[in-house]
Amino acid sequence: MENVDLHCHSRASDGLLAPAELVLRAHAKGVTTLALTDHDVTDGLREASAAAHDADLRFVPGVEISVTWNETSIHIVGLGISTEDETLEQGLQWVRGGRPRRAAQMARSLADAGIPGTLEGATRHARNPDLIGRSHFARCLVEMGCARDVGSVFKRYLVRGKPGFVPHQWASLENAITWIRKAGGVAVLAHPARYRFTRDELHRFMKEFSDLGGLGIEVITPNHTFQECVLYANLARKFGMFASRGSDFHGPGESRIELGAIAQLPEDLKPVWKAL
Ligand code: AMP
Ligand code: MN
Ligand code: MN
Ligand code: MN
Repeated sequence: MENVDLHCHSRASDGLLAPAELVLRAHAKGVTTLALTDHDVTDGLREASAAAHDADLRFVPGVEISVTWNETSIHIVGLGISTEDETLEQGLQWVRGGRPRRAAQMARSLADAGIPGTLEGATRHARNPDLIGRSHFARCLVEMGCARDVGSVFKRYLVRGKPGFVPHQWASLENAITWIRKAGGVAVLAHPARYRFTRDELHRFMKEFSDLGGLGIEVITPNHTFQECVLYANLARKFGMFASRGSDFHGPGESRIELGAIAQLPEDLKPVWKAL
């Protein structure tokens, strides 16, 4: 049976597995088409693609770009991108460039709340220091005994209004979509329910996303409740968007949902993988 998983992370960004390990795991779990979508970086794609070729698994090169829209952090997944595109690579490099400074500010905020030493701790978890982000801080906070697990960290730290949160300016929506399209990819809105948009904001966002050339939305993701999957399936219908499906897997023991272990898309939706 076809099992398509178009959203996951390797340790090129904030996942726990090497790209090739991730591909082998996906294959073992029955995934037939896999996209690697690391945050703001394409470094893992070559290794993943080679491993997928050996394992006879269809591979889709991807990326998950951090965007600021209306003062909210939004994630836009680019699927089927070329890794040879200068505009995309330079754009991603610019986005990554803001992370080390943000990390230093996050550490200062945590230190002010009585938790010193997190920059060093988080840096140890980040294979690529340019990609340092909240997951690496979360792992460090768990190690320090500040929370039971990574998920619990995000209830008390690193989110708006809590210690360790730092407002940040990521790419503009227009730039992210332009870079993805220029590199031959399809732009997909990741886990829409995560942004806690009001109805009005959601519609305003979708109009802008669609006008800029965004083509898909993630309907099936562990970030959504069943009701939210229904809601975003309807939104895909309403805006004539392609629909995507992804586990957002970050690693064994950390992600509750395994690669490929998510519901199928409703049958009447247009699967984005048919457009790749
Ligand atoms: P950043 O790009 O540095 O803002 O980090 C975002 C990453 O933090 C996401 O891609 C997730 O890996 C992780 N994250 C954010 N919120 C949560 C949450 N509630 N539970 C677990 N991980 C989260
Ligand atoms: Mn992540
Ligand atoms: Mn995301
Ligand atoms: Mn993700």
